[in-house]
Amino acid sequence: MSGRLAVVGLGPGDARYVTPQAQSALAGADALYGYGPYLDRVPLLAGQVRHPSDNRQEGARAAAALAHAAAGASVALVSGGDPGVFAMAAAVCEELAAGPPAWRCLDVTIVPGVTAMLAVAARIGAPLGHDFCALSLSDNLKPWELVERRLDAAAGAGFVIALYNPISRARPWQLGRAFERLRGLLPPATPVVFGRAVGRADEAVMVTTLAAADASSADMATLLIVGSRETHVIERPGLAPLVYTSRCAQGTPT
Ligand code: SAH
Repeated sequence: MSGRLAVVGLGPGDARYVTPQAQSALAGADALYGYGPYLDRVPLLAGQVRHPSDNRQEGARAAAALAHAAAGASVALVSGGDPGVFAMAAAVCEELAAGPPAWRCLDVTIVPGVTAMLAVAARIGAPLGHDFCALSLSDNLKPWELVERRLDAAAGAGFVIALYNPISRARPWQLGRAFERLRGLLPPATPVVFGRAVGRADEAVMVTTLAAADASSADMATLLIVGSRETHVIERPGLAPLVYTSRCAQGTPT
């Protein structure tokens, strides 16, 4: 089978975050698939066909890209950030596992990108400098009770927590509920970072405390980092604060 599928991470924002590996995967494709606004970030190349799709259609988009590659084309399927983090690479694997046996012979490449939590962390200091975990707050693909159990476990174990998909029009209350839950487990002064649209023109990064954190400060383009007991804020005169998590941890949390 001569077709190829590259699942390409575009990074969090503008073109400076697109790696040289991603650039060459995009330039070598006959056809591009992806969520419309992500495809819009890819420079137009003569002879390439674009197949934009809606946000919610990951499975169908992955299957269409696989079918197109299986027909012999060189296909690139794009994701924001890293394609393996709450994104298209897993959707491709799911479709490939369930699809026609011939798809297993396809040349599939996953091209990594800078994921949102790394871009936000780098803007504010080093909040992921010690043990951390990442959770999606979306309960579209898992029950909310599981989200709560994982939040409790992560906070109880002393992890810094990166929260993806904090809020959307269809999921307005989940972040507020998550803050309530975390307030029962972590000190009120725990630093919380809101990183919005990092790497784009409308970027905004803000640091607050768990006690003061307000869910209405987040939107769909926001990633949150909730600190641990080892996370500190260095105030600097005339400069943005630095948030960091010490490389050393003391004893048992909770
Ligand atoms: N694959 C993506 C994540 C997709 S989930 C990645 O690796 O980054 C979508 C969520 O990612 C958003 O709800 C938001 O929480 C986060 N996100 C994506 N781009 C972002 C950006 N530029 N700044 C802050 N958060 C972002």
